[in-house]
Order: sequence, then structure tokens, then C-alpha cells
Amino acid sequence: MSAQGSDHARVAVIGSGPLAAEVVRNLGLVGVPAAVHRADDFWRALRLADLQDCYCAVAAGIPAGARQRLNALCQVAATDLVCVATGAHGITVETFPFGSDPGCACMECDVPVDDGDVASPVPDPIASSIAGALAAAAALHCSSEGARRLYAPEVNEASTLVPLARRNDCRACASPWRAPRVIRTRNRWTARDFLAAEAPTLAGQRVRLSDAIVTACDCAGCGPVAALTSLVNRPAAEAAAIPACPDCGADSVRIEARDTFSLGELTERFGRGPVPAKFALAEIGGVAVCFDLEAAARDPGSRA
Ligand SMILES: [Zn+2]
Ligand SMILES: [Zn+2]
Repeated sequence: MSAQGSDHARVAVIGSGPLAAEVVRNLGLVGVPAAVHRADDFWRALRLADLQDCYCAVAAGIPAGARQRLNALCQVAATDLVCVATGAHGITVETFPFGSDPGCACMECDVPVDDGDVASPVPDPIASSIAGALAAAAALHCSSEGARRLYAPEVNEASTLVPLARRNDCRACASPWRAPRVIRTRNRWTARDFLAAEAPTLAGQRVRLSDAIVTACDCAGCGPVAALTSLVNRPAAEAAAIPACPDCGADSVRIEARDTFSLGELTERFGRGPVPAKFALAEIGGVAVCFDLEAAARDPGSRA
């Protein structure tokens, strides 16, 4: 893991620039240890169980795609989320207290103005310093009010605090994403270990994986190609990184991937090994359940 002090971290900071460094520095001033993860790596490195041990996750100036994934992960973990960004419109600090307010808005319920990459009105190091302090303060007091957006347009103008309301048709905070009952599993999908005596009734249960999985991969020109076939049952993100067919070199790789499977199907596909996903979500008897698939993924000795 790339994180610093991750074993005792109370806040997970996602980001790698000066803004993330300022968040960590300000948390350090009050003695709160933080683990830092890069935006392109946190999904793999930050386990659901470790995030659940944190008060809060802070997205520090990371791209929208990574922010959306963190928004989903924090809702499953029921861990508070703070998003901080600096840009042409000033400093924005958004707070989502998923840990204490199960009905609060999520990051995607009310998306703020996109600053893009336009330069900040104040010099970047100063904007980062102010934003880092505001985000650290928000991380420590996340649960005291509902979801909200603090907006500091310029250093010499008044800031505003806007309450954020949950949007009924928001896909990103629909059940079962929101605070499911988390069950740690061994991530072994044989009938004996996972489905046990209830196998016949559970086999038809639908689950949604945290990561889309490749179900078919070939070349439109060559047909089946061994290097492509080997991507079946791997995360779709791995297959998406293949630029061209390894046999003919053409841009003709066909990928089928999905994130929803029945338990029976997972047993068939992964009976001999772990599912390459962080977790699986299901509605069982009207209850949202999350199977944490990382529980046994790491040697327990490595956390000493
Ligand atoms: Zn939402
Ligand atoms: Zn080909």
C-alpha cells in the first residue's frame, strides 16, 4: 500500500498534489493521522474495511471519475466524505455525512459548476493552503450538519454555505449503495464454502459487483485470440487498457462486460478463485447486503 501510516489512519485522503498535502498537514496539526492514496490507485489500495475504520475520506482535487467511485465507496462503507477543489471559481468544500445521516445528499445529487483546469484567481499555493485547512476542518466536523457546500469565491469575498438536498432520481445514491449490512466473506465461490445448504435457493440471487467483469473478449477480424480470451473473468478496466488486437494489430477488440450476475453464475465462473472485485451488493429479503470480498485478500500479518 502506498499510504502513509495507514494502519492507524483516521482520515483517508485521496489525491497527490499540493492540495492533498495541505489537507494532510492540517490534520497533522491536530494530531489526526491520515492515509494518502493516489486517485488512480485508491480503488485497489483502500480496502472497504479500512475505510470503515476512518472518520472520513477527503477527495482532494481529484478527477470526476475518481470522485464518483469514492462517492460510491463511502456510501457502502457509511463513511463521511469531503470533496475539496480549487479552480477559477475559487474554493469549493463539499461535505457528505454518510456515517451519521443515512438520508443525506450524495456527491452526484447536486453537481457544482465545473471549474475545469482554469487557473485560480489567487496563487495556487495560497489557494491550496486555505482549501486544505477548510477541508481538514470539514473532515473533523463532518457529522455536525447535513450535506452542504462551502463556497469561497475569492479570498476577499464572503463565502457561502449551501445545504445540499438528496435528489430522488439520483442513480449514485440508490439502494443498495447506501449503508448496506456488510458481510465479510472469504471470497471463495464454491458451493461448500459460500452457498452452503441454501445453495439451490441462493443460486438465483442477483448481485451487483463493485467492478464490471469481462464476460467475452475477442477480435472482430481474427475471432478468438488467446491473449484476449485470458481477459475473461478479469476486471473490465484491464481489458479496456488493451489498445489493439495482439495478433493483427487492428483496433478491433470486442469486449463484453457487466457488473450484475447471479450467485450461481459467480460460483461457475470463480469456483476456484476469488472474484476480482471489492464487494458485491444484493437485496436479500428487502435488506441491502454488501459482501466484502477483500476481507481475506491480504495476509493478516501485513497489518501488524
Ligand atoms: Zn445522490
Ligand atoms: Zn485481430
